This record gives sequence, structure tokens and C-alpha cells, in this order.
Amino acid sequence: MAEERPKYLIKAGKRLDGRKPGDARPMKIETGVIENAEGSAMVEFGKTKVVAAVYGPRDIHPKHMMRSNRTLVRARYDMLPFSVEDRKRPGPGRREREISKVLSETLNTAVFVEKFPRTAIDVFISVIQADASTRVAGLNAASVAMADAGLPMRDLVVSTSFGKIHDEKGKGHMVVDVFKPEDNWGMADIAYAKLPNLDKYVLLQMDGNVTKDEFFKGLEMADKSLDDIYKAQVAALKKKYMEGSK
Ligand code: ADP
Repeated sequence: MAEERPKYLIKAGKRLDGRKPGDARPMKIETGVIENAEGSAMVEFGKTKVVAAVYGPRDIHPKHMMRSNRTLVRARYDMLPFSVEDRKRPGPGRREREISKVLSETLNTAVFVEKFPRTAIDVFISVIQADASTRVAGLNAASVAMADAGLPMRDLVVSTSFGKIHDEKGKGHMVVDVFKPEDNWGMADIAYAKLPNLDKYVLLQMDGNVTKDEFFKGLEMADKSLDDIYKAQVAALKKKYMEGSK
């Protein structure tokens, strides 16, 4: 990218968009946004906007992927061409394939997969507007969409990011819910996910370097934000069913 690295990403405890280190962006979670899908959800983290649609359990193709004792949850993550400022090349590249693989692995941990042998559950995650942290927004959307589809689940998956960004003296500060300038110019960013009721971490990806102390400080801050995400997920699911029962 041609732009120059800004002199700082945080100054006097304020990030470039005015947030404090532990603040997540304004969040919105909605279910039932795609009628043709068995389950669906939309998640917004600030300007990052992601939709997830779930189909299945259904026949699995190609057949050699079939497992006799379980279903396969297959996530397909895609960033749409108009989701970023410079049009993105359509279709899955190396990045999308890698993200799809890790999100699939993460989502499989939340579902009672042995209940539907020889099938697939397909989860399409489409980023319609990208301002960083799209994979974690996608995981939150996918998990709500799977619950909306009525799949038997051990837990919801809750997910967010945290990172390390520099102040005007070059010192690093841990922050929650990384947005684009912080992802581009920050010192590190971490995407992770958790099954909150089982207290189990099910995804951890890191770019850059942090010390052990910084890592745990960031994790503690981000875990607080996961509580809010979980509450918003549950509220979104309840809202749909309350409206449906009127
Ligand atoms: P995440 O979106 O999960 O944080 P990355 O760290 O790979 O994943 O990407 C960070 C951000 O960089 C994206 O959310 C998006 O805003 C931007 N980005 C990623 N890939 C592209 C691309 N091919 N073209 C333009 N912007 C991109």
C-alpha cells in the first residue's frame, strides 16, 4: 500500500476513531436475514458488515468427503468485490481459502456433528463491507446462523480481535476490535474465538509480535468484549423467535 504509516495509532489513550483501548466498535447482530437459507445472520462491527447463510445437513459433494460417523461443517468465506475501497478480485484466493479452512475447523467444534452422519452443513460467509476483523465478525454471524437453523450445538462461538498499536513515542498499547488502520499499521493483531459456556478457546491466529504479558493483557480486555457479543447473539436469536410467536 502506498500510504505512509501514521505517526501514531493511539494518543493520550484515544485511538484514531476516538475509541478507548478496551472499546469495541458499535455492534449489530440480526438473524433471519436470508429467507431461502435454513438459518442466517448479519453482524456489523462498525463498518465491517458480514452475512452468513446456513444450508443443511444435506448430501455431501464431492462424495469422497463423506464421513460415515459425522457431518462436516464447511465454511466458505468470501470477500465480495465491492467490500473494499479498491475493488477486490472476485473469487476465493489463497487468503480466502485459508480463512475458510480455519473457520470450518472452528465451527465444527460447536456442533454435535455425530448427529448427522454422511452429510454436510454448508455455511456461506460473505463480507459485504470490510474494515478489518472480518473473519471474527464472520464467525459470530456463522454461529448465530447455525443456531437460527436449529442445529444442535454445544455452545455458540463468540469471536473478536485484539492488537498492539503504537503511540507517538512508538510504545505499544493493547486494544480490542482492530479496525483497518490498526490492522494495516499496527504492531500485531490477533483473531480468536471461544465457546463461552464451555470456557474453551477454539481459534487463535496472530500476525506480528507481542510479549506474553501483552498477550494476556489483550486477551483479558477482549474477553470482556466477548461477553457483550454473546449477549447480543442471544438477544438476536430470542428477538426472532419472540416475533415469530406473536
Ligand atoms: P480480517 O478481515 O479477518 O482482519 P485480514 O487481516 O487478512 O483479515 O484483513 C484485514 C483487512 O484488510 C480486511 O478486513 C480488509 O479490510 C482488508 N483487505 C484484506 N484483503 C484485501 C484485498 N484483497 N483487497 C483490499 N482490502 C483487503
